[in-house]
Amino acid sequence: MNIEKIKMDLILNDDVDSPIDGVQEANTSHTLIDALFNSNTATLRNRVDDSCRKFFTSTDASTDLHIDDIRSKFMQFDAPAQGKSAEAYIDLLDSEVLPHCSHLASPRYLGHMTSPIPQFLPEIGRLVQTLNQNVVKMETSRGMAFLERQVIGMLHREIFRADRQFYEENLQATSSALGIFTSGGTLANICALWTALRLADTAQASESTKALSPDERPVIIGSELMHYSFDKGAQLLGAQLHKVPVNNLFQIDLDALNDAVEKYRQAGRKIVCLVAIAGTTDYGSIDAIAKICDIGKKIGAHVHVDAAWGGGLILSESNRHLLDGIAQADTVTIDGHKQLMLPLGCGMLFFRDPALSQLTMHHAPYAVRATSFDQGRFTLEGTRPATALYLHAALHIIGKNGYDDIFSKSMQRARYMAQTIETRPEFELIAAPVMNILTYRYIPEKYRNKKIDDLDNIQINRFNISLQKWQRQKGDSFVSRTFRAIGQYNNQGLTLLRAVLLNPLTTNDDIDFLLNDQLHIARLLESRIRDTPASHS
Ligand SMILES: *Cc1c(COP(=O)(O)O)cnc(C)c1O
Repeated sequence: MNIEKIKMDLILNDDVDSPIDGVQEANTSHTLIDALFNSNTATLRNRVDDSCRKFFTSTDASTDLHIDDIRSKFMQFDAPAQGKSAEAYIDLLDSEVLPHCSHLASPRYLGHMTSPIPQFLPEIGRLVQTLNQNVVKMETSRGMAFLERQVIGMLHREIFRADRQFYEENLQATSSALGIFTSGGTLANICALWTALRLADTAQASESTKALSPDERPVIIGSELMHYSFDKGAQLLGAQLHKVPVNNLFQIDLDALNDAVEKYRQAGRKIVCLVAIAGTTDYGSIDAIAKICDIGKKIGAHVHVDAAWGGGLILSESNRHLLDGIAQADTVTIDGHKQLMLPLGCGMLFFRDPALSQLTMHHAPYAVRATSFDQGRFTLEGTRPATALYLHAALHIIGKNGYDDIFSKSMQRARYMAQTIETRPEFELIAAPVMNILTYRYIPEKYRNKKIDDLDNIQINRFNISLQKWQRQKGDSFVSRTFRAIGQYNNQGLTLLRAVLLNPLTTNDDIDFLLNDQLHIARLLESRIRDTPASHS
């Protein structure tokens, strides 16, 4: 039998039951398969609806159970041998797991960049999960792969504003991509650095093969407020990350940036990437993007804008001026799961010039083929869900005007909170909101109306840590905290309370409630300290 004949037999026999399929399976497994794939899920869906409603209507920030008690509920490590009904499983979740989740949808949860998501999105999520398209390649996602490129193109146009012909040629081109979806801002930033380093390698091909000593490594420069994903990326890629101080508005200090650039150039070092931050994680401050792009152009360095937090504003006619200059960047990161209120897992990286996407291209003969439409050629990640559908849905259902309204209200809330803090002698506003984040701290009574020195600040830091922890434990409201060097206090490190005014359901009353909650806790803390002075001096 020759080889052609064998192949033919295999193909022809494909339609015939194989011996394995022919074996009569035990009844029990038929029942299991039926239960898993053919049963009516209406009851289950009602149960899940109930759980969602419970979550959505909690107004506290979390339960007040101590973290150690929650931890002790998750100590069982034998995998269940016997399955149970899905309804019984929901019972388990309802009693043991869901009560201990963070109530991100609560209007008094003002701590982090994770928003409640509009109610249509979990329904879209059912579609994403039921269709289970794998957008790594065309053969597992067909039309969805084009949709992904389409929504990337829509945001690309908002960011870079190229002409119609550019999008007609590039939106669905096979050879390059206008951008990629990633699991988040971290991956998007790492991919941007990867691109910048490949670009430098391509320019200096002769040097790319030899091992570099530490002081020959390519250099990435950004402000000290760069997200820690840049530390991860620089380490992974063998680059040196240089952090420049910020000015009083928490933007990169441009003189210091120029000095750093000069220093490395004089030492003969290759600067491969300048990073501008559009919405720092700590303060929401925005670097002088246009100026950084100019410096990048002058020295031939790639400019990446980390707009993971602030990039959503590009959709808002009345706020997009905050991102002026972004169209000159080479790459831009945006997290859809932050300001755009999409479910988690909606990071994106955009390439101004789609040719940049080719620098990190990879293919595989069995799936992600070189000349295909496969988006997996351009992504660091392999298998990926069609999270693009969330963005597609939000753009169609909320629209640019809807986002404009949501962002403008969110900024108003931030300004209201800042003003309220400024009228209260108990608080000190540290960073007024440029977007919808603000930082402040509580000043205990004995430090008010005096010049605060270094030792005072150490005590005030301790106090604010206790305050934030107590508030978190109590669970009625929540802000996060950060620790940063502050220029107006000679760069001493200060513990700051950090409010993120993202939740559209938060009202001014909720903000008042939260600040009053803090004042109440702070007074209790102060009286405790007075009673036991030794432990706090
Ligand atoms: C949130 C954030 C990131 C990281 O994004 P993930 O989605 O958490 O990986 C990066 N940069 C900035 C400025 C951010 O705010």
